[in-house]
Amino acid sequence: MKNLLLFLSLFSVLILSAQNTYLQCGHIVDIASGKTLSEKTIIVSGNRIERIADGYIKGAKTDSIIDLKNMTVLPGFIDMHVHIESESGPNSYLNRFTENEADIAFNSTVFAKRTLMAGFTTVRDLGGTGVNIALRNAVDNGLVPGPRIFTAGKSIATTGGHADPSNGMRKDLMGDPGPKEGVVNSPEDGKKAVRQRYKDGADVIKITATGGVLSVAKSGQNPQFTIEEIKAITETAKHYGMLTAAHAHGDEGMQRAILGGIKTIEHGTMMSDETMEMMIKYNAYLVPTITAGKQVAEKAKIEGYFPPVVAKKAAEIGPMIQDMFKRAYKKGVPIAFGTDAGVFPHGLNGKEFGYMVEVGMPVMEALKSATITGAELLGKSDELGQLKAGFLADIIAVEENPEENVATLENVVFVMKDGVVYQK
Ligand SMILES: [Zn+2]
Repeated sequence: MKNLLLFLSLFSVLILSAQNTYLQCGHIVDIASGKTLSEKTIIVSGNRIERIADGYIKGAKTDSIIDLKNMTVLPGFIDMHVHIESESGPNSYLNRFTENEADIAFNSTVFAKRTLMAGFTTVRDLGGTGVNIALRNAVDNGLVPGPRIFTAGKSIATTGGHADPSNGMRKDLMGDPGPKEGVVNSPEDGKKAVRQRYKDGADVIKITATGGVLSVAKSGQNPQFTIEEIKAITETAKHYGMLTAAHAHGDEGMQRAILGGIKTIEHGTMMSDETMEMMIKYNAYLVPTITAGKQVAEKAKIEGYFPPVVAKKAAEIGPMIQDMFKRAYKKGVPIAFGTDAGVFPHGLNGKEFGYMVEVGMPVMEALKSATITGAELLGKSDELGQLKAGFLADIIAVEENPEENVATLENVVFVMKDGVVYQK
């Protein structure tokens, strides 16, 4: 009994002295209502927002105050399409033969920090070697600064498809990768590949429904899965509660993906009006990745930057994405923010906002696509994507009003994730 009393009194001391953080915010963008509010204080307790108060208030002497009176404060951004393990460059194709997993892991910590400091407190990683799973765990355990990661582990492709890991290799190195390595050729293989990813610790499933730009293969747009294969994958993913994404540039592959039950279509480059209507009907989301399209088109102009077969596709496909996005937005296709960072340098994710706004999407809607929408798709709408009591304290700040200058979103000056402040 004595021990219990001692324990209880110690416990209450701990509670009384628990330090809260008071963020005094000049402006807060309330994305749900589309309004920007002035002079508010966000009170953070532990890793959650306790409440938001009117005016600038402070707590007890033991509480800390963060002065954001000259800033515009927003919920941390969510990028639904990154490759956090790597960064594309002229050596990308060689790196596959020279880098060990440990090299990839060290590099990925740098990319993770850069992403977080750019205000992206949550990302969905759509495919790498599997190091992305270890990185997610290291971030969750507080060992490495980085965004909260929902990862696909390794993508799923068909033989010779966009994410076949031995594409373009010499015959004796090619081997015959199977579901474990992410290559499937039947519905049964598809089920095995999903279950394997679940076993590996992946959170989401990614397939490459059509050809792609950066793989050493002829077509950047051919459909590469049958509907039956896609259905087997999405149904199995559903059993395990895993969100599904399909990389797709060509229209036929996109239609098969939507009909097969895929939730997000990545890139969507050659999407026809008919497919856009299908997206609306099936409530499938477009993740546009305009920044990646612009980047590969730019790099294709540099002689020798890409292998010739890749350069041709990059020059053709890259510039088309922004126009498609413009049509899709006008038509009312559901849109979730995603950049394909890794195809361009990590940390420049905020550029996507400008490209979306440039062709007609209002800033507030672009912000919604990068917060509330991402949280919904990830099944986290009760704790991510908004500044609200009870939500995780993922809070960022910029210097200007983004509705007046969207480029301010490329220069995030304050980052708190899970209640912890990260300094540059
Ligand atoms: Zn990608």
